[in-house]
Order: sequence, then C-alpha cells, then structure tokens
Amino acid sequence: MMRLPPFSYLAPRGTGEAVRMLADAGPKAMVVAGGTDLYPNMKRRQFEPEVLVGLRGIRELAGLAGSPRDGLRIGAGATLTRVARHPEVAAHYPALARAAGVVSTPQLRNVGTLGGNVCVDTRCNYYNQSYEWRKSIGFCLKRDGDICLVAPGSSRCWAVSSSDTAPVLWALGAEVALVGPAGERRIPVPTLYQDDGIQYLRKAADEILTEIRVPPSDGWRATYWKLRRRGAFDFPVLGVAAAVRLEDGICRDARIVLGAVASAPREALEAARVLTGERLTPEVIGRAAEVAARPAKPLDNTDLVYHYRKRMTRVYVARALRELAGLPIDGVWPSGMSARAVEEARIADD
Ligand SMILES: Cc1cc2nc3c(=O)[nH]c(=O)nc-3n(C[C@H](O)[C@H](O)[C@H](O)COP(=O)(O)OP(=O)(O)OC[C@H]3O[C@@H](n4cnc5c(N)ncnc54)[C@H](O)[C@@H]3O)c2cc1C
Ligand code: SF4
Repeated sequence: MMRLPPFSYLAPRGTGEAVRMLADAGPKAMVVAGGTDLYPNMKRRQFEPEVLVGLRGIRELAGLAGSPRDGLRIGAGATLTRVARHPEVAAHYPALARAAGVVSTPQLRNVGTLGGNVCVDTRCNYYNQSYEWRKSIGFCLKRDGDICLVAPGSSRCWAVSSSDTAPVLWALGAEVALVGPAGERRIPVPTLYQDDGIQYLRKAADEILTEIRVPPSDGWRATYWKLRRRGAFDFPVLGVAAAVRLEDGICRDARIVLGAVASAPREALEAARVLTGERLTPEVIGRAAEVAARPAKPLDNTDLVYHYRKRMTRVYVARALRELAGLPIDGVWPSGMSARAVEEARIADD
C-alpha cells in the first residue's frame, strides 16, 4: 500500500488567510482542494510538500451563480458534481456540464473541484507510477531525473494536459481570477496554460485560483467529446471542445480546442476559419475536421496507440461539429461510452 508522506495541514477560513499562509510557508507549501489529483501524486512521491494549505473550508470559493445573459461566476472550490448538475450550467452551458460530469467517477467528482481540474497535473506513462517503478527506470525530467524517456533528445517534458474542463472553458472564452500576495489578476484561460509538461501553468506558486468566469452565452453553442479506454473513470486521451455561433444557419464564429494532445490545450485556429461564413454541412465539417487534426501531435506517453489517437482527433472533431449542426452521429455518446454505460453511470450517480 502506498502511504502519504508526512505533512502539516493548514485550514484557512478565507482566501486572504490562505494566501498569507501559502506565502509564509514558501516553496515547501502547496494548495490542496479536493485532493483527488494531489494526494495520489504525493503517494507516488511526485510531490512532497511539507505544508498543505487546504481550501475546502473556504466558503467564498464554493459559489456558483449566473445566467446565460450575465455569464457564470464559479468559485474554484465548487465541486465537479455541483457544476455538472447546476440547472443554469446544464441548461445553458451544457458542454461545461458534460465535461465536469465525465471527469473520473461520481465519488471523485463529489470532492474534486473545478479549480483543481483546471490546475490538474500533466500526465505521462513514465511519471504516473510509484516511486519504486520510476526509480527502477532511472526517473525522468519531470521528477527526480534528468532525461525525458519519451523523447530522450529533448530538453523539455511532454507530459499531457489531461483536464476535461480546460478545453471547454477555453472554447467558451472563460477567464480565471488568480489571487496572490500582490493582489488579484484576471487572465483568459488560454493565457493560464503553456506547452511544457513541467511548467504547464503560467501561475506563480503563491497564487490561488479563486474564480472561473464564463461570459454570457451570446448565441454560442458548445459541446465536448471525450475519448478514453474505460468509460467509467479514465482520464481523456483526447478531448474535443467545439463552440460555434450560428446565425440563420451560417457559422459566424467558431472555436475548436483539443485536450490531451499536448502539454496544454491546443486551439485549432485554422479549422475555425474553415467553418466561419459557411453552413455546417457534412462536407464543410469533414474539411474542418481534417484541418483540426493537424495541431494534434500525440506522443507515445499515454493510453492507446498514439497514431490511433491522432486519427481519432479528426473523427471526434467531426462528431462534435455534427452534434452542433444537428446532423446524425454514428450511434456513439460523447464520452465514448455506450448508451448502456451512460445509463449505468447515471444510476450510480443518483
Ligand atoms: C482514478 C482517477 C481518475 C481521474 N480521472 C480524471 C478525468 O477523467 N478527467 C480529469 O480531468 N481529471 C481526472 N482525475 C483527476 C482529478 O480527480 C480531477 O482533475 C479533479 O478535478 C481535481 O480536483 P481536486 O479539487 O481534487 O484537485 P487537487 O487534487 O486538490 O489539486 C490538483 C492540483 O491543482 C492545484 N490546485 C487545486 N485547487 C487550486 C486552486 N484553487 N488554486 C491553485 N491551485 C489549485 C493543487 O495544488 C494541485 O496541484 C482523475 C483522478 C483519479 C485519481
Ligand atoms: S514526457 Fe518525458 S520528462 Fe515528461 S513525464 Fe514523460 S518521460 Fe518524464
């Protein structure tokens, strides 16, 4: 059995207190929300913080309010279950509800938070292993070693961005609030991420993500499709967030954001240009899907064969766009589950 390393747990009651505690403890401290990502990582000795600043007792971080007219304000501490089931989110931001609702399992969604999902660590087959396993292969760049085992000639880490909600929040035009000793700053979601498996967030270690703001829906329609091996709880090995704004059947604006194909979500800008000004016919969708798959450059460091994942990018983008266009989809559900598995998951959720 893997055990947690020793640490002190601090339980602030407000954001200001949390920021002070984090700053006082310095680099040996980390923030923990639901702990569904961090605690397993600590058991594998990927992180060994001496101090954890727990956010669960901070009520102001758990808010969720808004409407399609005003947009959403979601506290970083809102659980994924709450986001997935919130009536305004489910009715007007169904892509976000879907992405939150297909993270992991019901148990983990009940404690895992949206903020934690946005900040979730990048993943790699050579990294998400026990300490002993990693030691037996000489460790790697991301933790304890000095070479990348996936791309030994490379000076960077290629661990995969594996958040389900990040591509959707990006496609919806959301921004995040970060609070640190110097005060608060707001940045668009794309600015939060960078394509590096180790430094995947442009967030200082002493900053806490406090809120996610989603703009008014303003005619946008969005969806999320997730590829994974086991529909019951796996991380995405491909996530496709697609958003379009249609006027009289013509696509006026589009955003397609791919998850789990790089160390940060990746926007398929060229594909959006293919869609803009066009009707979403099967031909146009086919062309856009072809172009959208180009920025996907998966490596052999996560589940399923990487060239299959690359091929599936085109298929999943096409399915996502067909769903938005109201065209028939070939009998599969967006999380890759069969209809029966979806029903079972729903029953387990209830
Ligand atoms: C078996 C299993 C399956 C999983 N499947 C999926 C999946 O399918 N999709 C998916 O996206 N995730 C998955 N996860 C990962 C995880 O459960 C989710 O990403 C969850 O949303 C993380 O939220 P949390 O509150 O538990 O984060 P934590 O574990 O508390 O934190 C995660 C990271 O974010 C940082 N952090 C958390 N909150 C903040 C904040 N407010 N400000 C600054 N930093 C913060 C922490 O320091 C830590 O580095 C899975 C995990 C497990 C164990
Ligand atoms: S991509 Fe390379 S450096 Fe990064 S976790 Fe995997 S093996 Fe390690």
